[in-house]
Amino acid sequence: MTKETRKCSFCGREGKDVDMLISGVDAHICERCVEQANTIVAEEKSQKEKQKIPSFRLFKPAEIKKHLDHYVIGQEEAKKVLSVAVYNHYKRINYPAPKPEDDEGVELEKSNIVLVGETGTGKTLMARTIAKKMKVPFCIADATVLTEAGYVGEDVESILARLLQVADYDVTAAERGIVFIDEVDKIARKSDNPSITRDVSGEGVQQALLKLLEGAVVNVPPQGGRKHPEQKMIQVNTQNILFICGGAFDGIEKKIMSRMQANAIGYGSSRSARIDRDNVLQYIAPQDLKSYGLIPELVGRMPVLTHFNPLDRDALRQILSEPRNSLIKQYKKLFEMDNVELVIEDEVLDYLVDKAVEFKLGARGLRSICEIVMLDAMYDIPSKTTRDSAEKETFRLTLDYTRKRLDATRLSQLRAAS
Ligand code: ADP
Repeated sequence: MTKETRKCSFCGREGKDVDMLISGVDAHICERCVEQANTIVAEEKSQKEKQKIPSFRLFKPAEIKKHLDHYVIGQEEAKKVLSVAVYNHYKRINYPAPKPEDDEGVELEKSNIVLVGETGTGKTLMARTIAKKMKVPFCIADATVLTEAGYVGEDVESILARLLQVADYDVTAAERGIVFIDEVDKIARKSDNPSITRDVSGEGVQQALLKLLEGAVVNVPPQGGRKHPEQKMIQVNTQNILFICGGAFDGIEKKIMSRMQANAIGYGSSRSARIDRDNVLQYIAPQDLKSYGLIPELVGRMPVLTHFNPLDRDALRQILSEPRNSLIKQYKKLFEMDNVELVIEDEVLDYLVDKAVEFKLGARGLRSICEIVMLDAMYDIPSKTTRDSAEKETFRLTLDYTRKRLDATRLSQLRAAS
């Protein structure tokens, strides 16, 4: 048979009407049908890929903790509690849910987490570090900008819109992500009594948040806001999303103390004598969150509770130079890119910490202080050096230079900014 008399067995076009006809045992296919078949195969494959629920590489709690140790200084108890909670969470996702007819099947419930501790003690850092280790999408939401539906502000659904964005709109990935909700203490009810009037910034938002934490299918506007009513909603199931809420809960120590003292009366007064009054936060219990103004349903949905210790001088000193991406390591890297070796005297590090402590700037303030000290050097050095020169130069940060730089600045102003 000549090409002219053969036909494509798929579209029926004759040999003379196509550029190419490939022959098999009993059939022929033209180049257009090959291309079309190729597209169909690719689409099918990607559909199957999306439906395939990847099982997680489960890291043991000790592995997660060890990873955290590289990035977060101190906070031993919080690291342990979080490592176990995250391990259990992803174990639960990997474990097939029991079938409805299986009465004996144990259903593992999701355990969201609350982290209580002063601002700047590493709560966000820890949540972010864990998400990176687990390779899951991660986003941060600020509870203070949330309002219940219908009010000016962000709907709680906007949190999921952000998570979807981070996950590149891969719904399956987003549905196993981690969301950090910061300043959850700011949506607490202002008084212990449930208010009669509607409380836009408090209880209503807590109710809305509860819906997310409970594990519901939520319609999410992909762009976040409600400004485009015509946009198609994306359905996100929050059942496997891990919510980590953080807050300073200013003044909660009083609630903890009064609970403990009330208990102590019941058991005889010897117990209260053993209370470490310098770090009352370590005794925090779910009922303290309720007395602080979180609704019981919300507290019930966040069964894992742990505290973050305030950072002392030693911790700040370690934060400066020890974590894998510590500030000092970052500056050294920046200088190295300009072929300059940055040498910092030990007493400079002590001085920087002294200033952070003196002005109560905390760990976040360390960055602002370093920026001030480094500004001139970072301005001048790139113009003075050539990147590819074989000769490496050295910039030595001395105590004298650091003092001069900081004396010219009003550090007290940094406090508000940090
Ligand atoms: P929080 O969420 O508790 O307000 P962050 O985690 O945002 O505090 O901390 C702010 C910054 O301070 C972090 O990005 C990190 O650079 C530094 N930091 C705070 N606490 C620690 C810590 N325990 N270990 C290492 N760095 C810390």
